[in-house]
Amino acid sequence: MTILVSGGAGFIGANFVLSWLERHDETIINLDKLTYAGNLDTLKDLRGNNRHVFVHGDIGDREQVSELIARHRPRAVINFAAESHVDRSIHGPGDFIQTNVVGTFNLLEAVRGYWDGLPEDEKSAFRFLHVSTDEVYGTLSKDDAPFNELNRYEPNSPYSASKAASDHLVRAWYHTYGLPVLTTNCSNNYGPYHFPEKLIPLVILNALLGKNLPIYGDGQQIRDWLYVRDHCSAIRRVLQEGKIGETYNVGGWNEKPNLDVVHAICAILDELKPKADGGRYSDQIVFVKDRPGHDRRYAIDAGKLERELGWKPQETFETGIRKTIEWYLANQDWVRNVTSGDYRDWVGKQYEAQ
Ligand code: NAD
Repeated sequence: MTILVSGGAGFIGANFVLSWLERHDETIINLDKLTYAGNLDTLKDLRGNNRHVFVHGDIGDREQVSELIARHRPRAVINFAAESHVDRSIHGPGDFIQTNVVGTFNLLEAVRGYWDGLPEDEKSAFRFLHVSTDEVYGTLSKDDAPFNELNRYEPNSPYSASKAASDHLVRAWYHTYGLPVLTTNCSNNYGPYHFPEKLIPLVILNALLGKNLPIYGDGQQIRDWLYVRDHCSAIRRVLQEGKIGETYNVGGWNEKPNLDVVHAICAILDELKPKADGGRYSDQIVFVKDRPGHDRRYAIDAGKLERELGWKPQETFETGIRKTIEWYLANQDWVRNVTSGDYRDWVGKQYEAQ
């Protein structure tokens, strides 16, 4: 059996591919465009593993995707591919519309063409799982209940609006064409292989380099953090046991203001890698102008996933953040490759070699 993932060279997709291959005998076809966020270095231990087939391509290329699916006949498609960084979406929303909306549309159409032609038993077993975000629900004030699956969609950034649009397309392909879809809306992820433009890896790396630790506004924006491997286990559970057409919120019950997250990282670094000058990493914190339209609070009610499918995260924020920092300290080569031009060069050579 085979499954196809898109975006499997990105942060969550690559963690998913690695964790899937540790547990299953099935082959993974990994379709990724290798944007700046796609990183084959993360998958280098899979070189020579014939259960991982990397394909350089775009979910928006319907012909390529149709041909790929027809050739490998997957029993499931999981869509991780996206432009995912809110700040980038503010400065250049076009790529977000192209990949997250038009790309998802093309992927859905390619999958529908394949699924329509399957024999009945394969057709009913097939699943399309769309990986989405809690940011589609907009923002919460301090006393609001966490988002559940019945909350209205109220996206505030070009990123969240494009993801919201993709979720609606997925829903419509179920109601209109009967495509057996599942959608997961997850809170903020952190963990190994996170591209260092996002808060947690940025803070770890800047701290170690003696640079400023920039905090937007007053740092009181609340996010609900989930260790990436817990997100991967939730996706596996939904893929296996989720009810067709349903959406599932995924979260870690770990609401934290950004400033507390940064202080927690600094405290662990003080312990694991004390500064040579005897100072504290938190002395590097600086407050910078807030991001426009910055949502104040996200919080996820993951109760449905727990009640109906029996899923629970394994990590608390305290255990997950320590693991993450230990991983970054032990994997400075990965970090250097990502942050230097060597990485780009390597990817180019690597791709030519395949
Ligand atoms: P990422 O930016 O790290 O990775 C995205 C991957 O998609 C990259 O490998 C990139 O090369 C690939 N890609 C981009 N455009 C493509 C295209 N047109 N065709 C094929 N591949 C393409 O993102 P991530 O953080 O791993 O997020 C994965 C998914 O999970 C996204 O859909 C995102 O919206 C969602 N999500 C992320 C978070 C989070 O905290 N990171 C939380 C909830 C949901």
